[in-house]
Amino acid sequence: MLITAGPTHEPIDAVRYLANRSSGRMGIALAAAARKAGWEVTLLLGPVHVAPPEDVQVIRFSSTADLEALLDAHFPPCDVLVMAAAVADYRPRGVSQGKLARGEQKLMLELEPTPDLVAKCAARRRPHQRVVGFALEEASILDERAAEKLRRKKLDALVANPLATMGASDVTATVYLPDGRRSSPAKTDAGETGMDKNAFARWLIDWIGAEFREG
Ligand code: C5P
Repeated sequence: MLITAGPTHEPIDAVRYLANRSSGRMGIALAAAARKAGWEVTLLLGPVHVAPPEDVQVIRFSSTADLEALLDAHFPPCDVLVMAAAVADYRPRGVSQGKLARGEQKLMLELEPTPDLVAKCAARRRPHQRVVGFALEEASILDERAAEKLRRKKLDALVANPLATMGASDVTATVYLPDGRRSSPAKTDAGETGMDKNAFARWLIDWIGAEFREG
């Protein structure tokens, strides 16, 4: 199982970058749960402070471009890709040489869209491979956006979380499937504010094992 986790850092100049608040905790918990369930795990891990499990192969990335190159090498041999990384949607167009100097004029930063890495993997998957994406959305539009992303990115499953999940220790998530089915942990396992990320990770890894067993 190939798992990605954490944010990307998109360089602006030699010392600055654009990033997001992802802690990497969800993907790290998934890697630990998958290893415990007997999967051989490779974790592609972004710039985070949370320590990864010791018994999985960890390869670090910083930018979307780094992660793209790692997926080119590690997606082909995997059976399941779980794309929990919070990949930037936009990045600075071209990296400035050295350090941009402070000035009195306003500074415009031109951004370009990044390639959609999970969609790219889904588009080139072999028949037995399964691709699971994540989506972080405002609760009021989560349902509609999740269904749209699942279709557009041609994923086998999409785990949708409300915005409050980012950086938090708890998660409230629903898995969307292309045939319209939805799955989430049983209510008895989930508290008021959702489930601990480690408990959710164990549930999701079990769910992946059961759902994708045939492939
Ligand atoms: O479109 P959005 O960023 O909400 O999609 C989230 C899903 O797509 C996550 O699984 C994320 O890892 C992936 N993604 C990606 N490449 C991007 C942006 C997001 O693979 N450039």
